[in-house]
Amino acid sequence: MGCDPASQVYVRNKHKACEECGIKSTIIELPETTTQPELLAQIEKLNGDKAVHGILVQSPLPKGLDEHQAFQAVDPLKDVDCFHPENIGLMMLGTPRFLPCTPAGVIELLVRTGIEISGQYIVIVGRSNIVGKPLANMLIQKAKNANATVTICHTGTKGLSYYTKQADIVVAAAGCAGMILGDMLNTNCVVVDVGTNEIEDSTKKSGHRLVGDVDYESASKVASYITPVPGGVGPMTIAMLLKNTVAAAKLTL
Ligand code: NDP
Repeated sequence: MGCDPASQVYVRNKHKACEECGIKSTIIELPETTTQPELLAQIEKLNGDKAVHGILVQSPLPKGLDEHQAFQAVDPLKDVDCFHPENIGLMMLGTPRFLPCTPAGVIELLVRTGIEISGQYIVIVGRSNIVGKPLANMLIQKAKNANATVTICHTGTKGLSYYTKQADIVVAAAGCAGMILGDMLNTNCVVVDVGTNEIEDSTKKSGHRLVGDVDYESASKVASYITPVPGGVGPMTIAMLLKNTVAAAKLTL
């Protein structure tokens, strides 16, 4: 990882969660001047280390480094983020080795809350490779805890609220503070807010606070369930990472 402040918080939280549940975690902080060959050599070293079961390349990488090449360099059997094309392909075919952490966390949240997914109309706002696209794929599988009808919206979508207003479940993953308002939602829908956006707040010592993509105030008046930010999807993402790590360790036992 590089010196991105948000990444450092994520990495610290993941490290802490590992320690709490007995998984040994090592943070390898590479200098900003690291070259692509040096990064790939570091990943290769970890690939060959039998004591390492899971490898995670924390993005964003410093400018000039090729993130996709780094993800592809990770041994697919140690790819606990599920970013490697082989693992994404397996997931898409409905025969997953690992599941991508944030989408898996969203589904686990719904399932553990007793919210039906099968047959529901789910609108996802955001089509990134780490959230929107894999989540849509997982939700449309003809499988348990899936079997939904899914629409993905993005910046090219005309009239976003036309879709969100019809949804039984809305998943907001756009990275746009408070963009989903209560009047864009169907009464009693379920709202999962993946967004984590830092906004200015002079009442806080730090001068800022974290908010989601959903305007909690108005949306919570309409929705039957709504996840908070922070404290909703974020901890679930980490829990799913730990689950993948245990699965990865079992693969090499
Ligand atoms: P990206 O920036 O990679 O993707 C954002 C997506 O949202 C894009 O597809 C973009 O459309 C779409 N989008 C942006 N603005 C709008 C808009 N106004 N209307 C409709 N669509 C829009 O973000 P990520 O997927 O990486 O992350 C999304 C959010 O989730 C961020 O806030 C991030 O911090 C958070 N996050 C939280 C995690 C957690 O564990 N809680 C984990 C991962 C992410 P287009 O493709 O057209 O540009």
